[in-house]
Amino acid sequence: MQIKRQMAMVFNLDKCIGCQTCTVACKNVWTNREGAEYMFWNNVESKPGIGYPKEWENQDLYRGGWVRKEGAEAPKLRNASRFWEMINLFFNPVMPQMEAYYGKGPFTFTYEDLHSNESTTRSQPVARPKSMITGEEDIPLEYGVNWEDNGAGVTEDGTGGLDYNFKDMSPEERQAFLSYQKVFMFYLPRICNHCMNPGCVAACPSGAAYKREEDGVVLIDQHRCRAWRYCITSCPYKKVYFNWRTGKMEKCILCYPRIETGQPPACFHSCVGRIRYMGPLLYDMDRVPAAANVPDLELVQAQRDVILDPNDPQVIEEARKSGIGEPWLEACRRSPVYKMVKEWRIALPLHSEFRTMPSLFYVPPESPVQTTGNGHGNIRMAGKDDGKQHLPNLEEFRVPIKYLARLLAAGNEQEVKTALTRLLAMRAYRRSMRVYGQSNLEVLKQAGLTEKQAIEMHRLLALAHYHERFVVPTAHREATANAPYIERGFAGYDEMAPGAQPRRRQWFHGAKQEVGS
Ligand code: SF4
Ligand code: SF4
Repeated sequence: MQIKRQMAMVFNLDKCIGCQTCTVACKNVWTNREGAEYMFWNNVESKPGIGYPKEWENQDLYRGGWVRKEGAEAPKLRNASRFWEMINLFFNPVMPQMEAYYGKGPFTFTYEDLHSNESTTRSQPVARPKSMITGEEDIPLEYGVNWEDNGAGVTEDGTGGLDYNFKDMSPEERQAFLSYQKVFMFYLPRICNHCMNPGCVAACPSGAAYKREEDGVVLIDQHRCRAWRYCITSCPYKKVYFNWRTGKMEKCILCYPRIETGQPPACFHSCVGRIRYMGPLLYDMDRVPAAANVPDLELVQAQRDVILDPNDPQVIEEARKSGIGEPWLEACRRSPVYKMVKEWRIALPLHSEFRTMPSLFYVPPESPVQTTGNGHGNIRMAGKDDGKQHLPNLEEFRVPIKYLARLLAAGNEQEVKTALTRLLAMRAYRRSMRVYGQSNLEVLKQAGLTEKQAIEMHRLLALAHYHERFVVPTAHREATANAPYIERGFAGYDEMAPGAQPRRRQWFHGAKQEVGS
């Protein structure tokens, strides 16, 4: 057992209102500067839609992430073999171009015209589009970070037909859900997932991308980066960006200066919907390669199995031996992420079929039951007058289970159904108490929940205060003081005694690299 620490996250999609406050907070703090105009380390997409950059989920197009290797101990990177990197050294055919992020380039508007236009005209002044790079005005607007806001243009003929998550649905089913009358949508906030098996780290030929020992945050060493850009290719979430001014790669740093002092990142802190949760996890690094190589439908459970129980005496003993301190262990026991992911199974990883094992999990959105046919406008969980609770038929939800399963469970519909049933059961239980004055435990039993769990779930999802949503242990210098710079960061997890000679060693489940030179 090789125990590692991971700062992990949960976003509750049921509560995101798409206000973009998180996006603005991140933009203002980290990417409001030259060379980073087009970057959005945090962005919020409307689903269905193809997102930012265009069609990032389609790995037939971008060839990111890992693929399963039958009979092997670990998956392999889809595209980043040394041979492939050599032959594509000067032109990478699967790299998203600016057109996929921003059409003709990042733009703003001539807002100053609204304030300073002194001429008297018959019509109101307007702000015209203007390039953020060249300053050229009236540039054509073809795409942007929030292009499909609130489902804009997401029809069969628009971008909707290209949404990767319709993959498992027939053209008729897809058409039915994209037709105007039955349209559904929800918001999907995205940041770097600080994966347990990061494609970006494994693909970096310079060893610039690394995973911090102290909390699993994935960073890019700006001194080591040589802008090969294979991290862009191998990140299936397209959350690494090239800065044209510095010539280096950049990505979300999970506001590590804040988390070191016990505060959540800026986007978490500012979230208006209070949809975001942060807490530490312990996981077994030795089991990561095999867990990332199981068949698609087993991936979610395999990742859960890698996460360790912080109350298990054997885990605690091993963690102490690995130098993990009591404050971190205590935080793991209080972690809201552990509860939602492992205990209650209501939070699922985004596109686990990419096999990077994300540390960011999503509570799937509940949605109204379709109004056609039965005349009920809302979830019918407690609608009958017989005093009993009735869970709705998940197949009648406006957001198709198949769609959510493709998005959050590598196609495993049962995982999504379990999560949704538990959420609905918790709501039905609360409603039975408030409306009927009697606890309906039957509905919890149907969903496999205990009353204690339902009460805790309700507290965390609906009422939790700041320190319940964010359990962030402060960093201790002594915890990493003996990890020399070159060793601490290089390709994630290796350890070497100070002063020891460089040696060949394993580099993320397969490829080898000389280090220390
Ligand atoms: Fe790397 Fe983040 Fe992409 Fe995961 S989501 S592969 S950690 S850049
Ligand atoms: Fe959603 Fe919160 Fe971001 Fe608003 S601030 S868009 S609620 S994640």
